[in-house]
Amino acid sequence: MFSLNKAGRLLLEILYPGRCPVCDGILALGEGYIHKDCAGSLKRVGPHYCMKCGRPVLKEEAVYCSFCKEEKHDFDRGVSVYMYKGDMKNSVYRFKYANRQEYARYYGRELAAAIAARRDMRDAQLIVPVPLHPDKLLKRGFNQAELLGEEISSLLKIPMDAELVRRVRATRAQKELGAYERRKNLKKAFKIGQNDVKLNTVIVVDDIFTTGSTIDEVARVLKEAGAKRVYAATLAIGAPK
Ligand SMILES: [Zn+2]
Ligand SMILES: [Zn+2]
Repeated sequence: MFSLNKAGRLLLEILYPGRCPVCDGILALGEGYIHKDCAGSLKRVGPHYCMKCGRPVLKEEAVYCSFCKEEKHDFDRGVSVYMYKGDMKNSVYRFKYANRQEYARYYGRELAAAIAARRDMRDAQLIVPVPLHPDKLLKRGFNQAELLGEEISSLLKIPMDAELVRRVRATRAQKELGAYERRKNLKKAFKIGQNDVKLNTVIVVDDIFTTGSTIDEVARVLKEAGAKRVYAATLAIGAPK
């Protein structure tokens, strides 16, 4: 990625005014990446979250959410910024399917801040976005996880490698499937691109965390290649049950 100076950015904003990720309205010059009032309408994960996946916990004193009490994950820790509901759901939909790549600027910053606030994630050395299958990438034109990863990488000064893990098998859309089927659907879906990588602690970035099966599968492949710890960083996470 090339980087723009201040004047370049300003010129770009004049030529291509950004849109607000919540209401999709045009942002005025100097308004930033979101309307002030709109920012408050997105529901954030509160201060009490699951030690494993980052989902809010129903009882303040709970260490793990009801999902993580029942199921093991291949990643070690997770962080998420928003609850996946209401305006967030619509926003993620436009981000992915209506070519609103610009939303990544605001969301990437929020996600970077959430990661930076986590003391237990400070040893992260590499960012790996969850890859799309090449056919899907060609159709969509971009990988939303990679856009988020780029922002996080430049803000937190952690390198990103978007080629390290590849999606080698086209899979069915996860949202149609139950937990067991999700895992089965992802079997052998990912592969490490190079074999000689030295990995220690990796942050896997994605847009939505539902059951965690996608990040689990990426984490499993990374650990097989020698990664010691894998963190999950997602923009939005499903509600606790
Ligand atoms: Zn707005
Ligand atoms: Zn959990």
